[in-house]
Amino acid sequence: MPPKPPAKSVLSPLQKALGKLGLRRDIDFALHLPLRYEDETRIVRLADARDGELLQIEATVTSSEVTFRPRRQLLVTVDDSSDTCTFRFFSFYPSQQKALAVGTRVRARGEVRGGFAGWTMVHPNVQPAGAELPTALTPVYPSTAGLPQTYLRKAVLGGLARADLSETMPGAVAVNNVLEVPWSLRAALDFLHRPAPDVALAALEDRSHPAWQRLKLEELLAQQLSQLQSRRVREGLRAPALSTVVEGLHRRLLAALPFALTAAQRKVCAEIADDLAKPLPMHRLLQGDVGSGKTVVAALAAAVCMDSGRQCALMAPTEILAEQHFRKLIGWLEPLGITTAWLTGSQKTRERRAMLALIASGQAGLVIGTHAVIQDKVQFKNLALAIIDEQHRFGVAQRLALRDKMVEAGLEPHLLMMTATPIPRTLAMSYYADLEVSTIDELPPGRTPIVTKLVHEIRRDEVVGRIRVQLTQGRQVYWVCPLIEESEALDLANATETHAALSAALPGVAVGLLHSRMPVAEKRAVMARFVNGEMGVLVSTTVIEVGVDVTNASLMVIEHAERFGLSQLHQLRGRVGRGAAASACVLLYSTGDAPRLGDTARARLKAMVETSDGFEIARRDLDIRGPGEFLGARQSGAALLRFADLATDAALLDWARYAAPVLLDRHPDLAQKHVERWLGAKAEYLKA
Ligand code: ADP
Ligand code: MG
Repeated sequence: MPPKPPAKSVLSPLQKALGKLGLRRDIDFALHLPLRYEDETRIVRLADARDGELLQIEATVTSSEVTFRPRRQLLVTVDDSSDTCTFRFFSFYPSQQKALAVGTRVRARGEVRGGFAGWTMVHPNVQPAGAELPTALTPVYPSTAGLPQTYLRKAVLGGLARADLSETMPGAVAVNNVLEVPWSLRAALDFLHRPAPDVALAALEDRSHPAWQRLKLEELLAQQLSQLQSRRVREGLRAPALSTVVEGLHRRLLAALPFALTAAQRKVCAEIADDLAKPLPMHRLLQGDVGSGKTVVAALAAAVCMDSGRQCALMAPTEILAEQHFRKLIGWLEPLGITTAWLTGSQKTRERRAMLALIASGQAGLVIGTHAVIQDKVQFKNLALAIIDEQHRFGVAQRLALRDKMVEAGLEPHLLMMTATPIPRTLAMSYYADLEVSTIDELPPGRTPIVTKLVHEIRRDEVVGRIRVQLTQGRQVYWVCPLIEESEALDLANATETHAALSAALPGVAVGLLHSRMPVAEKRAVMARFVNGEMGVLVSTTVIEVGVDVTNASLMVIEHAERFGLSQLHQLRGRVGRGAAASACVLLYSTGDAPRLGDTARARLKAMVETSDGFEIARRDLDIRGPGEFLGARQSGAALLRFADLATDAALLDWARYAAPVLLDRHPDLAQKHVERWLGAKAEYLKA
């Protein structure tokens, strides 16, 4: 008999879900803080309830029936002797129905609504009445699919009990002296996980409570420390010093460009050239609004690199974007005698082999591509500069891999990262302790401002009329379909439907469809037709989010604009207004079943109508997004802040900037412990 195969170590779905949240060590659990709290410590009398309040009642079931009008539902009426309330369940199990039999006494939690027929609760959480009431508020933790709060709560409390929470901020850097935050880490965490019911909930929820302050300080300190550590490491490394030569490529490219650089572009080019000329690895973030002209800055940096006889790599997050860069750059560089290699995942083997040979021999001075650029097989002859577009869309590992492509012993490549989601410059400078920041703060001249209009969905026909007008003027139109959280299938259905409707409404017009599920070749073909002007309207899911540059497109319609984030809306709008033609952006919105838009959605759309300045948009985005929504990964990519909010916690950031070098110099062991505690595996990130 063959031996039994060894049991594979399989993670349970719950463990997997915990892993997804980054919860592994005890300390990770201890630092997994509640999003909000529910008050289950009290039973409220229905007579004292307020409309819309989330509350807990105890009452006796007086009737229970399944009705079919307007749709199948379970209706249960309860009476708590002060008033009555009706529960509605649109989906329910027989067991639930049983647990709500007439005469049963239940405890129910939910939002009460007062209508003409008395109080109602839709899908309240029901359990038997009479269990002991908790003495602390019930935390609600950030979670993920398949991970029940009850399980997560237990896991967090377990981690909290076991974790080493000894202080890492002694003497000279003690918070207590500096900021008067009289909370130890242990006390702050105990409190935040199990606050007493009499606490001011507002201070907890807006995170101004001293316990929160303490946690934010810790987090910011970890961030600053780790960036400082990697800066010090980097300062000890060496890179090839790159500089232009007389009559070299850089000069010739400048002379050949069909436009003059803006003052802002000249300034950032000079900052980059200064860095490249030093024998230290550059680590610079180039931020500039959509359409501000970052590509040419990248091209000029690449030219400096090639002037020094070395190779440059440019990596973009999507194939469409990489291809755009490729076309633009060969347009500029090929006439100047530069060979550019092209690498993507979808490439044919033969073509790829040819490209790899060009790269290895050094014949290709510039390599452009997607993640394919960092694959093992790619061997550079002498890579010296790596440029990463839309850097926040790349992970740490990918950035590290690009750096590892530098083959010369003891040397590091220079790194230029580009992003179109700027954060205000002063914030960026103090936050990124290990990153220089260059900012393009003006658009190229001759752009006509984009007019942005808010249009209710019921006026969709008028929008189609506008499209016709644009088309007869020879212009092109984008129509972006909504993002339906977590459901690619629905996204797709919606885009397909819109595509069909527009095709029908615009006979004789080529209407294309682009979505993320399409094979790359097909995507590319559609995009090519739009770029060539063969296609009048491009219906798309958010795949065109970044970087696409079709100057003839003059109208952008965004459907269900209320579902998009502000910076994403701004990015999308940036796809038009790239030429001199007057351009417009129509934000189609819907309020669903509600009478009007929610406050945040309204604030976002209002900001879009009022300004098209990316920095102003970024500022408003910070204002609109409540605390807890971090500026991190999504916004800038470089931040990993979970708790602190750079917009409101500038004072804490200042403190952390002051404290980090002190702690690092005087108590390196504690500094290390602090970083590991907070960043754990993520600490690797900051070395990227
Ligand atoms: P982004 O910063 O969003 O990547 P691009 O580099 O794609 O912007 O530039 C947007 C458009 O502006 C491109 O068509 C580019 O060729 C053009 N452009 C860039 N710089 C200038 C300039 N100084 N004058 C005129 N047009 C420019
Ligand atoms: Mg770009």
